[in-house]
Amino acid sequence: MKLVVTIDVEEEGLFSARYNHRDVPVNNVPSLTSLDPVFSELGIRPTLLVSYQVARHQQHQELLMQLSEKWGGEIGAHLHTWNTPPIEPSSHASPVPSELMSRKLLEAKLRTLIEAVNRMGVDPVSFRMGRFNLGPKMFSVLEESNIQVDSSIAPMRRYYGGPAHLSALTEPYFPDPLDPLSPGKSRILEAPLTILPLTPGFGVFLDHLSNTHLFPQSWISWFARDLASIPAQPMLTGIRRLKTAVRLHRMRGGRVITTFFHSSELMPGGCPQHPDAVHVGRFLSKLKEFFAWLFNEIGVECMTLSELYDFYQEDCHPV
Ligand SMILES: [Zn+2]
Repeated sequence: MKLVVTIDVEEEGLFSARYNHRDVPVNNVPSLTSLDPVFSELGIRPTLLVSYQVARHQQHQELLMQLSEKWGGEIGAHLHTWNTPPIEPSSHASPVPSELMSRKLLEAKLRTLIEAVNRMGVDPVSFRMGRFNLGPKMFSVLEESNIQVDSSIAPMRRYYGGPAHLSALTEPYFPDPLDPLSPGKSRILEAPLTILPLTPGFGVFLDHLSNTHLFPQSWISWFARDLASIPAQPMLTGIRRLKTAVRLHRMRGGRVITTFFHSSELMPGGCPQHPDAVHVGRFLSKLKEFFAWLFNEIGVECMTLSELYDFYQEDCHPV
């Protein structure tokens, strides 16, 4: 199996439910160095998906380039629409879903982000939407960019200003540009997060259930997230569940494990679950145990998002 480790390298504030777009603190970025003992020992080659608010700081640019080089990783782009210029007022509740923004505005925001990453000396080809808020409009913007691989689909997740991905596939695919949740003929590879429905098709069932309006939408979102799915995602998931998710994925024919977490989760106080260094230390220990198990027991091969793209190109068009 392939292992893709992605990290959203972004400003603090995700967990405060406030979406300021000025003077956003980015003090957590140096905490990425705490991953070095684990990543260097195991040979983890991460994809660092960098937000505009991080990329615009020169000292962070240098650190990220150093880490990426040391780990044999990759720098990609991560779009927080709520604080990436241009900022336009909206009558919709914040965070405004990308599908409710104009295509022109989304194009301009993506351009701002890509140019900031370009100043690091990188032309990013991998991408993730903030809050996994990818719909057909944003996907059409990506199709006209240099992005080759997207990782914005979070199966079994749905919430306002974020994903509506209950029935999403759990393995990489080339989407239908008009419906990025379905396979099609896009040139962009989609690498969904590895979050499994407890039984195949459960997400489709919940999607139908939500259309009946028999249950509150918030109940369906909660049920899908907390009861009906099992994530191979190290944040908020214990080691035994992580291993069960991977085994289940393999049993169903899964070939790729795509994991993610946020840079802010590595800073004491950067998220509610990690109020101090002890909690961050526990998280790092869990990461080490999980990744070591993946290498030793499952025999994974670690690759970056663009390498996954190359792998799928060869896989679909063997030479
Ligand atoms: Zn983010």
